[in-house]
Amino acid sequence: MSTVDRERLQSLLEAERERFVSKHPLSRALHERARGSLVGGVPMTWMMKWPGGFPVFVREAQGARVVDVDGHEYVDLCLGDTGAMTGHAPAAAVEAIAAQARRGITTMLPTEDAVVVGEEMRRRFGLPLWQFTLTATDANRFVLRIAREVTGRPKVLVFNYCYHGTVDEAFVTLRDGRPVSRAGNVGPAVDPSLTTKVVELNDVAALEAALLPRDVACVLAEPALTNVGIVLPEPGFHRALREITRRTGTLLVIDETHCICAGPGGYTRAHGLEPDVITIGKPLGSGVPCGAFGLSAEVAERMLARREADYVDTGGVGGTLAGNALSLAAMRATLTEVLTDEAYARMIPLAERFAAGVEGVIRERGLPWHVTRLGCRAEYLFHPTPPRNGGEAASRKDEELEAFLHLFALERGVLLTPFHNMALMSPATTAADVDRHTAVFAEAAAALTS
Ligand code: PMP
Repeated sequence: MSTVDRERLQSLLEAERERFVSKHPLSRALHERARGSLVGGVPMTWMMKWPGGFPVFVREAQGARVVDVDGHEYVDLCLGDTGAMTGHAPAAAVEAIAAQARRGITTMLPTEDAVVVGEEMRRRFGLPLWQFTLTATDANRFVLRIAREVTGRPKVLVFNYCYHGTVDEAFVTLRDGRPVSRAGNVGPAVDPSLTTKVVELNDVAALEAALLPRDVACVLAEPALTNVGIVLPEPGFHRALREITRRTGTLLVIDETHCICAGPGGYTRAHGLEPDVITIGKPLGSGVPCGAFGLSAEVAERMLARREADYVDTGGVGGTLAGNALSLAAMRATLTEVLTDEAYARMIPLAERFAAGVEGVIRERGLPWHVTRLGCRAEYLFHPTPPRNGGEAASRKDEELEAFLHLFALERGVLLTPFHNMALMSPATTAADVDRHTAVFAEAAAALTS
């Protein structure tokens, strides 16, 4: 197995950075101008994370293609980090969104679309009763409140290196076996280790020990971690998680925001999970802000039985624009016409093709890396074997190598997800798009090793 020579990597990265700056003068100029009115020269500070010193500014995005203001076209495997897993501007959703916009966007009153979407979510995910939010973050925040309210328990349990959006309770990691506020956590209201227990994914003994005191309202879990590289649950882990949560009266909340890549009913349906609550957001409205949470009949009954909890005014679960007509029209079109069973039947084999292509290059070049796939999502990590948990995955990150591969791919017309080496397939992605990535990845691997 050959490892990457750091000096060679640094000089390759430097060359890619220079090339990036020279080929993107209009993006660069917009970024410079934006410094006068936007913090960091970007609309949201996380956009500073794109490698190259500034992000490319987008002129338009259609299907699996993005075109930047300098006229470069990219095969988009980032897809808005799942917000555009539908492909950009899918015709059915665009028509529904435009038609609804002409009929009114938000009224504080329900539309028929809400009923259709509720029925479709019930059919797909198995949970009977749904609510809508504007983001997955909101769905998670509201669900944590509801879980604490109905159980009367103060704590939440999450898995190490989880990400569930900007949810205060979820920014906890393990250090020397103890929960601590995650590095870089911006201004937490209280130290989150007071509100949260954290264990490693796949550690059944630690999970049981954490839940036995019966002070945890809910486990908030992605069914497979997707935000620190993909970390899959080991066989039997979900069975144990469900058994222990039931035995200890702890609610099980499954966050499907990214794992919707596993199938039309998410990982939950693909693997027969039985959560009490599901949360989701991102691609539900083809990119229009949408989120949702689904509840079991029992949780919904317990929730509404709590007379002292204010669910209709200023009790902490809400949002004026939540459930607005535009979001619901977008969700209806997305669920019934875009992210259909047939679309998944095309998207998942494309991710298999992507993984096989990457794996072939890794093997051919003798690189100590591997590739993992989850439904229509795939990702490569810089270690020969898959990580068992979030802690292991986090310890294997190589930001320099990642920056190089991203810039290298970008300059050759392929857009990867900036915080990972991740690729997502949309209904508009083609086998030729996947093969384009494989060829670029092979070229990058050759540059690193030859
Ligand atoms: N849950 C998961 C699993 C996520 O990956 C994310 C975002 N990456 C969120 C929730 C939050 O989504 P949003 O930022 O759209 O609220």
